[in-house]
Amino acid sequence: MRIGRYHIKMSVSNDVVFATAGRDPGSRAPAPGSLRLIQALVNTLSVEAERDLLGTAAEAAGWLQAAGLLPAGSPLTSAEHRAVVEVREAIRQVLATHTAGREDAAAARRLTWALACCRLTPAIDPAGGVRLVSADHEPVARAIGGVAIAIAEAGAAGTWARLKSCPGHLCGWAFYDRSASARARWCSMQLCGARSKMRTYRDRQPSLRR
Ligand SMILES: [Zn+2]
Repeated sequence: MRIGRYHIKMSVSNDVVFATAGRDPGSRAPAPGSLRLIQALVNTLSVEAERDLLGTAAEAAGWLQAAGLLPAGSPLTSAEHRAVVEVREAIRQVLATHTAGREDAAAARRLTWALACCRLTPAIDPAGGVRLVSADHEPVARAIGGVAIAIAEAGAAGTWARLKSCPGHLCGWAFYDRSASARARWCSMQLCGARSKMRTYRDRQPSLRR
């Protein structure tokens, strides 16, 4: 086992600023701990701004490197690029089920499969700790392992279900719901919330239907 050489850091440093395709529409604080990485990954796409930071294999490699998930000079093949984008979109779909408060076996299975390429192993710390590390030899599988570890940490911390994606038309923005009821639905009430109300209003007024 050559875990020492292949492990990647599990905890997300507070100093790292992950690039996103836009600003948080609701001006919410980012998700806590390593869940911030997952939130930023989902928000590398802004459909509204027509901006995708993972748009090409080179752009995706650059983002993963800046996030500390991929060593410099590790290009992505087109299949690896597709795998990374699939992880992002599978996460977004699960976050939508968090927003809707419903169980969705297909969405859960899709994300489980998207993460299944990585190999995680517990690393025993001489100081008495145990942490999950990614033990893959392939750089991209290690990067996806870093994503899987962040999700596992959030699951253990009980924060995973509060990371949601906005159901607004062409939105899907990921936001962290800190509300007491944990029932926030929109990235921003002023934007997607208001648009949804307007749409509902239009649908009830036959003369306004287009
Ligand atoms: Zn939205």
